[in-house]
Parts: sequence; C-alpha cells; structure tokens
Amino acid sequence: MYYMNSEYMLFVIPGLLLALWAQALVKGTFARYARVPTSTGVTGAQVAQLLMERNGLRLGVNSVRGSLTDFYNPSNKSINLSQTSVQGSVASVAVVAHEMGHAVQDAQGYVPMRLRGAMVPAVSLGSWVGPLLFVVGWMLSNMNLVWVGIIFFAAAVIFSILTLPVELDASNRAMQMLTTNGVLVSSQEVTGARKVLNAAAFTYVAAAAQSLLTLLYYLSLVSGRRR
Ligand SMILES: [Zn+2]
Repeated sequence: MYYMNSEYMLFVIPGLLLALWAQALVKGTFARYARVPTSTGVTGAQVAQLLMERNGLRLGVNSVRGSLTDFYNPSNKSINLSQTSVQGSVASVAVVAHEMGHAVQDAQGYVPMRLRGAMVPAVSLGSWVGPLLFVVGWMLSNMNLVWVGIIFFAAAVIFSILTLPVELDASNRAMQMLTTNGVLVSSQEVTGARKVLNAAAFTYVAAAAQSLLTLLYYLSLVSGRRR
C-alpha cells in the first residue's frame, strides 16, 4: 500500500500527534478556567451584549449545542454561543470576546478575513476532492490527475494558514476589549483568559501544520516516484 512508508511516518504521524495534543490542551485549559468565576460576576451572555453596544454592532445571538462550538457567522451577522460560553467564567468571557473579535473584524473589513472568506467555496471542495483525485490518480498512474489533486489540496493548505492571522487577531482584540471594558480586572483573570485563547490558537496552528505536512507527504510521494 502506498501510505505505509517512511514518508508517512515522517509527515503524517507528527501532524496527527500535534493535532491530538492541541485538542487535549484546549479542552484541559478551557475546563480549568470554566471553573473560575469572573470577579465582577459578569457572564458570557452579558459580555456579548456589552461588546455589541461598545462596538456599535447589531448582531443576532444564537445558542448552539456543545462546548467550544462557538462561532461568528458573517453571512447573517450572528454570534453563535455554546451553553458553556454564556456562563460567568473566565473561560466563557474569553471565548465570547473572541467571537466578538471576529464580528469587529467583519465590520471593519479586516483584509485577512476577507481573503479567507473569498476562499471558502474553493476550500470546502479542495480539502476532500484534492486527496480523492490524488489517490485515484495515483492508482491509475495518471500524474496529471495527481497534480490536480495536489493543487486542490494546496488551496486548503493556504486557507488553513490564512486562518492563523484571523484567529490571532480576534484573540488580541478579545483581550483588549475584556480589559478596557472592565470585564476582567485581576491579573490572574487576564492571564487565565489569555491561556484559554492561546490554547485555542494552538489548535489552528496544529491544523495548519497538519495540512502543510500532508501536502509535503503528497509531494514526497510524487518525487519518490520520479526517482
Ligand atoms: Zn476564531
């Protein structure tokens, strides 16, 4: 089989381990600070309202199932908050402020977010069509098809890399909004919120690294075949 080789061990396994580590880290960090109440008693739901007012934004606020499933939806200008995020913990207010950070990026036309948004249709196709064309091309020994697969997948890799500035910027905006609006007052709370957001950012770094390593894996297979 083409996938069980030294290149697989070199590129694919480390990417998987990194992604698993990042998932464990974000879950652990979130769980830890979800147990720490904000000293002001402010909840995530109140932070959403407060930051909308302060930023002059009118957004729909929806609740979604699960934990850490929060997201900002630019197509209908809504923030979607999970049950754990509307509560009054250091972790909740950090997550809610992060989603508000995305809303502010959208309102200000933040360029990396717009570029990333423009790529969505290509990427939602490329992330599964790319590997599929690669494997089919490989089995048929059709190198043109293999390269089309690589190009499709490369679009998904660029997308995952473009995600990084968008996510880091949303977290920076979040920390600034939480401190300047008096949501977080003690240095322990600020450090806790920062840790939650850093752990979340690390999952995006791991995902980008994983997709880049997978691309390198495909390229190494192609170059190995030439030799
Ligand atoms: Zn985000």
